[in-house]
Amino acid sequence: MLQKQNDKMINNMLNLPSLKIIDMHESESDYRFLVETALPPPTHCSKCGTIANLNKHGKKKQLFFDLSMHAKRVGFYVKRQRYKCRECNEAFFENLPDMDVNRSVTNRLIDWIQEASLEKTFTSVADDIGVDEKTVRNIFNDYVAELEVQTEFRTPKWLGLDEVHL
Ligand SMILES: [Zn+2]
Repeated sequence: MLQKQNDKMINNMLNLPSLKIIDMHESESDYRFLVETALPPPTHCSKCGTIANLNKHGKKKQLFFDLSMHAKRVGFYVKRQRYKCRECNEAFFENLPDMDVNRSVTNRLIDWIQEASLEKTFTSVADDIGVDEKTVRNIFNDYVAELEVQTEFRTPKWLGLDEVHL
């Protein structure tokens, strides 16, 4: 019972209910969590769409970065489950709803990077959270492209951008 409460408290630390912490390492500047998902298995094959008729097909550790915590950078090694479909024979990874799997960061870190990049250099943003500069630049470029579609770009709010990034 007590153990259960402790587990719950530790998992609340991340405030990401889709993840379950297995292990944690801490250095002077970084936290590294080993996690797996706490989600039900997929209901459909993500390749052919048929109702799940799947075999488990190994797990692979993938690193994702998250918001800093206690002034330390945070990374998750996700033990990500892979499945193989018995119908189409294709393999695919389980979904990670809290992650941007293309950029290897959490969705909430994307929001943070977008805001931070308006005020700081890409290198400094990257250094704050542990990702490389290119990731920050890509996320920022995606963000600007999105804003260009949504709003008129030449509004006073955006005039400051060039000063930081050119
Ligand atoms: Zn399939």
